[in-house]
Amino acid sequence: MEKIGKIIKVAGPLVVAENMLGAKMYDVVLVSDMKLMGEIIELNGETAYIQVYEETSGIGVGEPVYPTDAPLSVELGPGLIESIYDGTQRPLDKIYSKVGDFITRGVQTNSLDREKKWKFNPLVKKGDKVSEGDKLGYVQETTLIKHYIMVPPEISGEVVQIKEGDFKVEDTVVVLKNNDKEYKINMIQKWPVRKPRPYLEKLSPTVPMFTGQRVIDMFFPISKGGSACVPGPFGSGKTVIQHQLAKWAEAEVIVYIGCGERGNEMTDVLLEFPELVDPKSGEPLMKRTILIANTSNMPVAAREASVYTGITIAEYFRDMGYSVALMADSTSRWAEAMREISGRLEEMPGEEGYPAYLAAKIASFYERAGRVKCISTEEREGALTVIGAVSPPGGDLSDPVVQATLRVVKVFWSLEAQLAYRRHFPAISWLNSYSLYIDNIKDYIIKNVAEDYFELQGKSMRLLEEEAELEEIVRLVGVDALSGTDRLILLVARMIREDFLHQNAFHEIDTYSRIDKQHKMIDVIQYFYVKGKEYLQKGVNIVDIENMKVRDRIARMKYVSIDKIENIDQIKKEIDEEFENLLKNV
Ligand code: ADP
Repeated sequence: MEKIGKIIKVAGPLVVAENMLGAKMYDVVLVSDMKLMGEIIELNGETAYIQVYEETSGIGVGEPVYPTDAPLSVELGPGLIESIYDGTQRPLDKIYSKVGDFITRGVQTNSLDREKKWKFNPLVKKGDKVSEGDKLGYVQETTLIKHYIMVPPEISGEVVQIKEGDFKVEDTVVVLKNNDKEYKINMIQKWPVRKPRPYLEKLSPTVPMFTGQRVIDMFFPISKGGSACVPGPFGSGKTVIQHQLAKWAEAEVIVYIGCGERGNEMTDVLLEFPELVDPKSGEPLMKRTILIANTSNMPVAAREASVYTGITIAEYFRDMGYSVALMADSTSRWAEAMREISGRLEEMPGEEGYPAYLAAKIASFYERAGRVKCISTEEREGALTVIGAVSPPGGDLSDPVVQATLRVVKVFWSLEAQLAYRRHFPAISWLNSYSLYIDNIKDYIIKNVAEDYFELQGKSMRLLEEEAELEEIVRLVGVDALSGTDRLILLVARMIREDFLHQNAFHEIDTYSRIDKQHKMIDVIQYFYVKGKEYLQKGVNIVDIENMKVRDRIARMKYVSIDKIENIDQIKKEIDEEFENLLKNV
């Protein structure tokens, strides 16, 4: 008979049980006869400390704890896309329909629908030799995603049977034979969430992930497989930027993990995401999205688990060769869950009461990002890009969660409420943000986009920095005291801010700027600057330059549609002509 533990203490989400000899760390257990799911997070002899993913009220000392001898795992297979899960991969809609609005405890549901049939299309034939990670076939999971069925880890052999047609996820679709061993393969895999899925090799982050958002792509770019941190003070446009990335970034699959501040905020996400349209196909964005939703009224332990559930699903699609973008909002809420559980364990607290291992946990989460060579005999590359939002109390960036995150991620998009207040969107500060991927992606961009890309970027950045310094002076002595050259700097910096960095997410054309268009735009602005300096020298008055008509053309570059971007180059000619005209009046 299996060994059954006994509860000796209940402290919120933490349950302590004895008589647990033989249990392993991170094993899942079922607590009490209600069978609440929990996970062993500490073991001390026969005593196990269990974090429980459901409300523990009413559970008492002396009640049983049933081992499952398996770690917390996710189910991977067709049916993931378009799903909305809780932190332990229970489908939220299924739980709702099973138990109504209030999630009752101990409800066991499969993460993947066992009854639904999927059309399995084979990609191998009888007699083929295949090994771990090789694609055996695919299911057209949604209109946008082909879901590849891969040989499960640590299995290889010769295909002795392969089926074609409609099957349930647990039906055998392929049989492999290796010596005397036969492996029946179906369309569902399980994977323990705390263990990163393996890959052959991590590739360096040399390929940019363009997002169509100018402030990101031109100034603070991210690589495919990179990681970024974005703070989100209320009203700073965090939701809009996340939606823009989900829609436009070069990622085929989106995993969104919501760790709610308040219950209603998550409800917003659950209502908003399904409304979004994938701009490239016109289909609902959900057809390539998986949502993990924790509201604050769900137990903290489920929130702690949710980021692992999400990233494991994301790795699975990466392994198929997709570019996957994962967004976690907010990782501060996740860290708070860690803090609460650590407190219950009576561990020695570190900074601000967070556990001493906070930084290590954060690091190991972001380290699961990467561009990788997938395990497979075919050459296949996948990428998992991770974007974590942080919401430190009072927006204080010295907060331990923010600091630990900034030590591992290489991009910081500093969303600032002040910019949003001035209606500068996206409210990403050009002075405080950074990207450490620029050196990595330099060669790619020079080869594939434009040779002078970084030169233009550097020059533009310097103008913005000079503007910040000059503004101090203007505040003291007024703009009239500045030289023509300095006023030209202010003028061009303003163009960069208003005509380039400012981007309206709700404008049909401006919502997305292809990278070559971005380059043309910044090129024109720098051309204006060069000419401005030249004609100032020739005696043209700065006030006349400030009033040039062509400025209006420059301001409207962002609305030029992609099939007409050559028109942007023509603005240079207009710049020349107008300057020549000004010279006539000198
Ligand atoms: P948060 O999620 O940070 O509270 P939102 O993303 O909801 O803030 O943004 C607040 C408002 O700011 C939006 O309703 C929108 O009007 C405006 N906004 C944010 N980003 C943009 C953008 N890129 N373009 C235009 N308007 C924006």
